[in-house]
Amino acid sequence: MALKTLQYLKDSLIKILIYPTRDKYAYKVSKNDYLELLIVLRNILSLNHILGFFLYQNLSTDNVDNMSDSKVYFTDMHTSLNDSLLNKLKRVIIAAGITDIDMEKKFVAIKIHFGEYGNLAFLRPNYAKVVADIVTEQSGIPFLTDCSTLYVGKRKNAVEHLDTANLNGFNPMTAGCQIIIGDGLKGTDDVELPVENGEYIKTAKIGRTIADADIIITLNHFKCHELTGFGGALKNLGMGCASRRGKMELHTSGKPTINTENCRGCMKCTTVCAQNAITVTSKKAKIDLNKCVGCGRCIGVCPFDAITAQFDETMNIIDYKIVEYSKAIISEKPNFHISIMADISPYCDCHSENDLQIIPNVGMLASKDPVALDKACVDLAQKQPMIEGSRLYNNCNGKKPDDIFRCTNPGTDCNATFEHAEKMKMGNGKYELIEVA
Ligand code: SF4
Ligand code: SF4
Repeated sequence: MALKTLQYLKDSLIKILIYPTRDKYAYKVSKNDYLELLIVLRNILSLNHILGFFLYQNLSTDNVDNMSDSKVYFTDMHTSLNDSLLNKLKRVIIAAGITDIDMEKKFVAIKIHFGEYGNLAFLRPNYAKVVADIVTEQSGIPFLTDCSTLYVGKRKNAVEHLDTANLNGFNPMTAGCQIIIGDGLKGTDDVELPVENGEYIKTAKIGRTIADADIIITLNHFKCHELTGFGGALKNLGMGCASRRGKMELHTSGKPTINTENCRGCMKCTTVCAQNAITVTSKKAKIDLNKCVGCGRCIGVCPFDAITAQFDETMNIIDYKIVEYSKAIISEKPNFHISIMADISPYCDCHSENDLQIIPNVGMLASKDPVALDKACVDLAQKQPMIEGSRLYNNCNGKKPDDIFRCTNPGTDCNATFEHAEKMKMGNGKYELIEVA
């Protein structure tokens, strides 16, 4: 309690005394900031009789504060000689309120993507250890988790998935906790969770281990994605926690198309399609849409950009379904979200390669609101300079586009996610960005 009080005091004083003098993120001191400071003073000075009832009436203790913009905490990637990014990550997570969650003797799932073997853009286990250590310090029982994939690769069952996690450096020593694959040996161990007011999904098929956890923390590598535009907290939740049949349900509306003029018949796409949906005759590929489940794996593997997601609403529907899956996962349990904006590659970490990042590393963010967190990441990314020679840079011929995600992966629409998430009352697209040193 004392630590929390001191943290509130520090945060409130920083915001009230320092931020109004800085304009980097146009931070505005809100009524709630002053109220938070009053709460701290009340805790320290025991002035309950003066402040108590009024303050409790005006401050929400819900996961997402509906009174005002959600708070997203941010720290950049700069360090000094006596500091480290790991220390900064810990500070930003604590500032964002991770220790507000009662973790005592609770199973805490830390949802991460271990990276396909060959990919080097995935988050290092060092980041996960910071989170796991905080959970342990709060007397929680942390474990790292992810569910198996729909496509052919090295994470399509629990054994290969664990092998890949180990090869990529994740083990109890490096990650600070055990690793459990969320949907069982063959990706079939799931639980159906209801989606309240779901428009596209009635029950989300979620890996049983994740569904059984008491608390969920997402540790997200923020990057581009070939079907959803970007990958952040909602993608890590909605797609990443889905079992194989859940992933099928999410993917089946979005199917790619082949530009036969670009196709050279190299057959690389056929080797990654787990559904055997692609055939190549006379050096031209063809997709059997009845077999295709829309996993998007073939899009990134084609060296000649002959396969693209279709320019129709189906990709938006995938976005909507991901939102509804996410809602099912977190609606009944405490949750917290962390995104690392580094190595922002043009495709998902499911790829066994990672092309040059499209923009420089940005920073680390944390929030109790996954929607606000994703929106803040997207907005920050849009402001960054392009990296010359990246897929983004080449796609737009060096002229910065309005939407770097759509330009990197044509046909994607980030706004579809946010509009549906707000409609589903999952979180807040409006946020205050609060910098933590
Ligand atoms: S990977 Fe691309 S170029 Fe090669 S066969 Fe498939 S669609 Fe054609
Ligand atoms: S053809 Fe369909 S199922 Fe096969 S890799 Fe491409 S998107 Fe996935």
